[in-house]
Amino acid sequence: MEFVKPEVFLVGETRVAEDGLAAYLEHVGAPNWATDAPSDCERLTEIMGRLCYRSFEPGLNPNVTRVREGNANYLGHVLEVGHGSVLEHAVVNFIFADVSRVFTHELVRHRTGTAMSQESLRFVRLDRLSAYAPVHIRESEEGMEVFARTLEQLEQVQRELAEIYAIEDEKKFSRKKKLTSAFRRVAPIGVATAIGWSCNLRALRHVIEMRTAPEAEEEIRLVFGRVYEIVRDRYPNVFSDYEAVEEDGLLWIRGKNRKV
Ligand SMILES: Cc1cc2nc3c(=O)[nH]c(=O)nc-3n(C[C@H](O)[C@H](O)[C@H](O)COP(=O)(O)OP(=O)(O)OC[C@H]3O[C@@H](n4cnc5c(N)ncnc54)[C@H](O)[C@@H]3O)c2cc1C
Repeated sequence: MEFVKPEVFLVGETRVAEDGLAAYLEHVGAPNWATDAPSDCERLTEIMGRLCYRSFEPGLNPNVTRVREGNANYLGHVLEVGHGSVLEHAVVNFIFADVSRVFTHELVRHRTGTAMSQESLRFVRLDRLSAYAPVHIRESEEGMEVFARTLEQLEQVQRELAEIYAIEDEKKFSRKKKLTSAFRRVAPIGVATAIGWSCNLRALRHVIEMRTAPEAEEEIRLVFGRVYEIVRDRYPNVFSDYEAVEEDGLLWIRGKNRKV
């Protein structure tokens, strides 16, 4: 048995296809348009927004005599007026490792604009258990002792079942899978596992706001506080309206704009 802490890995993000973009800008009559976006996610979001009014430069649309310059300025306005649909074009991909099934159960409730691939505990046998000990458990030495002992006992249960059903000697993978799935029923919901999670930037804003709030559960707050730190640094103009306050040792991320 081992105690672990949730880890957040950003493993992918939207990239602009330069040749396609250049061809489009030529097509729309703005071949020299460029922006100062710090990332492709922000650049693509700006492009999708500007195409709505042909606001790459004045005159492309006779109704447009002035345009907002700069990515920060442009996206700042998008956030202010709540045109969040343009943020849906950019997608980021995370892997959350050493998270519990408590965490993954909560995460998968967010369906809109998300995709997920979860470690299969039908296929991956739990011969060793690891778990995150929440801060309120860590507060008491006696409580920690009960927590650790229970995990050790449940780990022992996994080993005993493996022995009784001789899973090591089993040749048929289909039976191994059935047994592995049966054994997991007596594993704790706090068992550490992994999930791949992708989402568009609009959905990400929603989840960060909901899951860092003080009412949310500690582990998901911890993970999305970390997610926020990563995306704030990488896509600053998409999160420029946020403020982070510390609450109970965790970040609480709040936006100035009510709905984007
Ligand atoms: C503190 C906290 C406590 C919770 N407690 C419980 C609980 O006790 N029991 C429980 O079952 N769940 C609970 N939840 C989960 C919660 O009810 C939501 O299911 C979860 O947070 C997903 O959020 P969402 O509904 O905004 O979905 P998302 O998929 O993130 O959707 C984003 C937004 O899209 C829109 N949308 C999504 N789907 C639809 C739809 N089908 N129709 C119309 N509009 C849609 C909504 O505006 C929604 O807010 C809790 C969540 C939190 C943060």
